[in-house]
Amino acid sequence: MSEHSNELTAWDRDHFFHPSTHMGMHARGETPTRIIARGEGVYITDTNGRTSLDAFAGLYCVNVGYGRQKISDAIAAQAKNLAYYHAYVGHGTEASITLSNMIIDRAPKGMSRVYFGLSGSDANETNIKLIWYYNNILGRPEKKKIISRWRGYHGSGVMTGSLTGLELFHNLFDLPRAPILHTEAPYYFRRLDRSMSEEQFSQYCADKLEEMILAEGPDTIAAFIGEPILGTGGIVPPPDGYWQKIQAVLEKYDILLVADEVVTGFGRLGSMFGSDHYGIKPDLITIAKGLTSAYAPLSGSIVSHKMWQVLVEGSDKMGAIGHGWTYSAHPICAAAGVANLELVDELGLVENAGSTGAYFRAELTKAVAGHRHVGDVRGDGLMAAVEFVEDKDDRRFFDPSRKIGPQVSAALLERGVIGRAMPQGDILGFAPPLCLSREEADIVVKAAAAAIESVLGK
Ligand code: PLP
Repeated sequence: MSEHSNELTAWDRDHFFHPSTHMGMHARGETPTRIIARGEGVYITDTNGRTSLDAFAGLYCVNVGYGRQKISDAIAAQAKNLAYYHAYVGHGTEASITLSNMIIDRAPKGMSRVYFGLSGSDANETNIKLIWYYNNILGRPEKKKIISRWRGYHGSGVMTGSLTGLELFHNLFDLPRAPILHTEAPYYFRRLDRSMSEEQFSQYCADKLEEMILAEGPDTIAAFIGEPILGTGGIVPPPDGYWQKIQAVLEKYDILLVADEVVTGFGRLGSMFGSDHYGIKPDLITIAKGLTSAYAPLSGSIVSHKMWQVLVEGSDKMGAIGHGWTYSAHPICAAAGVANLELVDELGLVENAGSTGAYFRAELTKAVAGHRHVGDVRGDGLMAAVEFVEDKDDRRFFDPSRKIGPQVSAALLERGVIGRAMPQGDILGFAPPLCLSREEADIVVKAAAAAIESVLGK
């Protein structure tokens, strides 16, 4: 390690407050610091010269892969020409206006406007405010509760941390959980009654949702939020018929549907949006990650015609909407977004996510599903997960303190591939850049099989 790398490591331990990191262990030097220096295609390289195939695309966001000149040129040109102007009171830039047009062009039917933010979390905060504003304009001040799902991930802000259905994100934070409710996770592999078919389990989830709505009072429930496929909660595709059955319940009680497409938006499932992929008809869509492939921070709330018309009515009564971020529609981020979406089209990445994703998941299944400690291999498009169990026949899970998932992901890293130990359960997740080739998929599969064997035996 160079002297400067040693110095950076010391500064890191002493001054850098890392997100989602064990603070004490890191400060004491008990967990590694890895300083990433550059990236190219699906590979990243650290300051020690160690290169890894990033099969999680950062945090499932670097969809076009690393080192794309087209995007860095667009960012540089925008920074030089006009680094910033705000978007308040009708101001825009060529980049932000063009990008909003490109998004609505690609979005599922019925979408009208994009409100830009900087992160998935702030976009979901915007969504909650819009939902409450909407129901106030409609004269329904009681209709305010929002139903999320256990294992859903919607951010870690004050309200969005409450929406998230993972305990780690709630513990000790005193989040205002009151207007947020959590219903059953659509997690077929972990269903309690194992005699249920997928369709029956979907019906069970819809029944549980309806029970909750009736117990709370339908007039108090404003919206339901869900990721088309559960992401951070375990990379779990919806069971057969799930979204159709859930939407029937929401329609019955006039409840808005928010599709959180922060991970699935712009191609990850082999369709431009997860909503189109699974037949979801949302009233709001959350977008972030794939919008710029993380070359610059940018998110959005896509608002449907149905909601937009009511919001317009609101401003006719109340004046300008009192909601804004300084950096909303930041021109540099918007320029990155325009170049990124053009690149997604030029390289055919949505199609590649579908075809290479199917190949990758089939090869992964062939290589590891027969292992005695692999309970489930699942996914859709370029999202995949391997779930480990202590006993396959009676689906007994490992004691979480054994940290099997983190051990396997560490063993994978030693073999030159990055996968993610998902935070709840022993689950190894994959979400590589959408430009992954079949040869690169083979490298990931081979390393995954070897890593599993090294931790759990043959
Ligand atoms: N929604 C989903 C589905 C996510 O996966 C994430 C982040 O992983 C978020 C929201 C929050 O996004 P951010 O981390 O940009 O705030």
